[in-house]
Parts: sequence; structure tokens; C-alpha cells
Amino acid sequence: MTHSVTLLMSEFVTHDVKRYIVTRPDGFEFTPGQGVELAIDRDKWSEEGRPFTPTSHPDDKVIEFTIKTYEEHEGVTRELSRLKPGAKLTMSDPFGTISYQGPGVFLGAGAGITPFIAIFRELASKGEIEKNSLIFSNKTPADVISEKELRHYMGENAHFICTDGDEPGYEYERVDKDYLEKNISDFGQKFYVCGPPGFMKAVNSALEELGASPESVVFEN
Ligand SMILES: Cc1cc2nc3c(=O)[nH]c(=O)nc-3n(C[C@H](O)[C@H](O)[C@H](O)COP(=O)(O)OP(=O)(O)OC[C@H]3O[C@@H](n4cnc5c(N)ncnc54)[C@H](O)[C@@H]3O)c2cc1C
Repeated sequence: MTHSVTLLMSEFVTHDVKRYIVTRPDGFEFTPGQGVELAIDRDKWSEEGRPFTPTSHPDDKVIEFTIKTYEEHEGVTRELSRLKPGAKLTMSDPFGTISYQGPGVFLGAGAGITPFIAIFRELASKGEIEKNSLIFSNKTPADVISEKELRHYMGENAHFICTDGDEPGYEYERVDKDYLEKNISDFGQKFYVCGPPGFMKAVNSALEELGASPESVVFEN
């Protein structure tokens, strides 16, 4: 089913990521971690649906998206970033394979954090976030989405990894087999993985080599 929604506001979260607040259609329910297909309901853009992940709490009265803009390229994210409040969008019913299945390690890169934000917000509201940890990889500290909120939820259990930069408070490493071996003691727990294809492939194969069973690794196909 396709729902019609209205953009209520948008604002920058980082230099190239914005949060969008849209109206919530009556009866629209989602499980944190699921995605929807979103399209701008105007001329040729209405045919250009793209997958995005609601980052709001499932009980919120509005729906939030957290979306990285590809400014250099005339695509949907650039057009979304230029919309004004009142713009109409269409949104599909939710779909997807990432959902919370118990405490574990969340491994995210870039905008791949969005399903985890939705999951963490729900866990935090239920007081169930403590046993989880986060390894969040970005290019530079300026690229880290929702850093304050994630540090607030996870404290010492959040690792912010950057591949470039030198500001204190971040680990300048790559999330590879060596990193995981050094920083994780139990490979029998749950792992949640979301990020660009190169990150997913590298992390999933490192986890397998380190003994994580494929059934314990939750990722978007
Ligand atoms: C299930 C799912 C959930 C997702 N959730 C989110 C989310 O919550 N937030 C989020 O930010 N992203 C999310 N994504 C990713 C998001 O769908 C894409 O970033 C989005 O579809 C890009 O749309 P676009 O029209 O701007 O770019 P597209 O035209 O679809 O291009 C996609 C990619 O190709 C590159 N590209 C293509 N052509 C050019 C060109 N000419 N010049 C430069 N680059 C080019 C872009 O850099 C971009 O990476 C999700 C993806 C999936 C599969």
C-alpha cells in the first residue's frame, strides 16, 4: 500500500545529512530497523522511489528520516534536500530484514546507522540498551550522524571509528578482522551489520572467520 505524507520540516544533522519529519499516516506501523520506499510526489520524481529507514520511535506521532544527500548527483536525495515544508511525498509499507533480536554488537558505517538509530531509540525508551555495544565507522568526525545521542545511549560501549582526521575522542582505524579480534571477546553473541556494500562484505567475512555463526549475524540483504 502507498501512503501520502507531508513534509513538516527538515534540518541538517551533519554537513551532508538531513533529518526529515513527515506526517504519520493513520494506521502506519513499522518495526524499528525496517525500511520504506519514499518518492517525491511531483512530476517525474513520483516514479523515482528510493529505500530509506524511519529513524523515529515507533510510537512517535510523526515519522523521521535521516538521509545523506548526494549533492554532486541529480538524484532523489539532492531533490529531497531542496524540498520545503508542505511538500508531498509517497511512502510504501515497511519492509526489511533488520530487527532487534537480542543484545549484541552493532556494526555500522555512514548512513548505515539509520536502522540502528531506530532500534536504539526504542531500546532506550524501554531501558533495555545497556547490554548492547556499537562500532560506528565514518570517514571523519564531521561525518558522524547523531553522535551525541549515541554517546548518551551507549557510553563506553560506543566506539567511533574514523578513517581520516586527528581529533581526540575517535579511534583512527579500519574495522577489519584485526580490529574486531582486538575489541570483541565473544563471537557467540548477536551481530548487526549495516553500511555500504564494501563495509558489509568485509565485516561479514571477518566475523565468519572469527567464529560468528551466520545465523547470529543480522544484516540487510
Ligand atoms: C533498505 C535500505 C534502507 C536505506 N535507508 C537509508 C537511510 O535511512 N538514509 C540514507 O541516507 N540512505 C539510506 N539508504 C540508501 C539510499 O537508498 C540511497 O542513498 C538513495 O537511494 C540514493 O538515491 P539517489 O537518487 O540520490 O541516488 P541514486 O541515483 O540512487 O544513486 C545511488 C548511488 O550512486 C551514486 N551515483 C549514481 N550516479 C551518480 C553520479 N552521476 N554522480 C555521482 N554519484 C552517482 C551515488 O553516490 C549514490 O551512492 C537505504 C538503502 C536501503 C537499501
